[in-house]
Amino acid sequence: MSDSRVSVTGRLAPSPTGLLHLGNAWAFFLAWLACRAQQGKLVLRIEDVDAKRAKPEYITALTQDLQWLGLDWDEGYGKGGAAQPYVQSERLALYAEMVEKLVRKRRVYPCFCSRKELKELSNAPHSEDHGVVYPGTCRGLSLACREQKIACGVPYALRLACEQEQIFFYDACLGSQSFCPADFGGDFPIKRSDGVYSYQLAVAVDDALMGVTQVVRGNDLLISTARQILLLQLLNLPVPKVYLHVPLLVDEQGERLAKRHNALSLRSLRERGVKPWQIIGLLASIANMNPFDETMDVRELISSFDPKVLGDGTRHLTTRLLQKFLS
Ligand code: GLU
Repeated sequence: MSDSRVSVTGRLAPSPTGLLHLGNAWAFFLAWLACRAQQGKLVLRIEDVDAKRAKPEYITALTQDLQWLGLDWDEGYGKGGAAQPYVQSERLALYAEMVEKLVRKRRVYPCFCSRKELKELSNAPHSEDHGVVYPGTCRGLSLACREQKIACGVPYALRLACEQEQIFFYDACLGSQSFCPADFGGDFPIKRSDGVYSYQLAVAVDDALMGVTQVVRGNDLLISTARQILLLQLLNLPVPKVYLHVPLLVDEQGERLAKRHNALSLRSLRERGVKPWQIIGLLASIANMNPFDETMDVRELISSFDPKVLGDGTRHLTTRLLQKFLS
């Protein structure tokens, strides 16, 4: 494919904090299909901005697992590209530069609230819809007070000061969306008190600088999308054109699949002799793209992918499907 024909750039953005499990595979499967269905280019970015939680061996394992499933990429980790490096822990200078820009715009303030204080906040009664809104405790501190706390060595995070700014975006499955970050969580951290840049900042900056135009991820990140767009607008960086927030995959009890569902890691399934076409068949059935519950190669699904059929809410990984495909 020549580069001039490529208009969609999608991304796979795994966090190397454990072995990939079926829940991750579900999200990457849909991100891959959404991009390939538009003849797009895929970037693989390693999200290890929180270096304490990430482990290099998981990077190797996840690239092998993605390739094993048939989910390939064109640019990024292991392949290079114009926006390198593609590993977040190697991009810290860029994040620092962006934070500096926001500071210059007077949209950042130090927050000295301790973890305990923030926890108490989250125990306080709050509206179900809006979650806990950070009340801006440290926003109004005087310069002298800030300087004194800093001089005394009180650790501080950096928060983005949110105004009443309504953020609009289009979701390919859910339609038009609009949120005001100030009303959903309020001023959010862009750098933690331990020096780690926040997920919101790193992802927003990386998507823009890597030319990402299509973001596919779990629908638990809908509000994060509004925060990331706000950051991009403030930084004068391009905003991805299309978002697709996909249903989360949950187990039969309704619990989100997580790293602790060890038996469902791609690694252990593979060691038990499960083949990639069984996993793809299973994921396609969950996505309502496999009426006859067949095993399949992911490339067979490209032409029939339609984000509209995904809907919202959650999808269940049922025992029936697990038995049908994996036993
Ligand atoms: N690294 C995140 C994850 O593995 C991806 C978040 C995103 O797509 O923005 O869940």
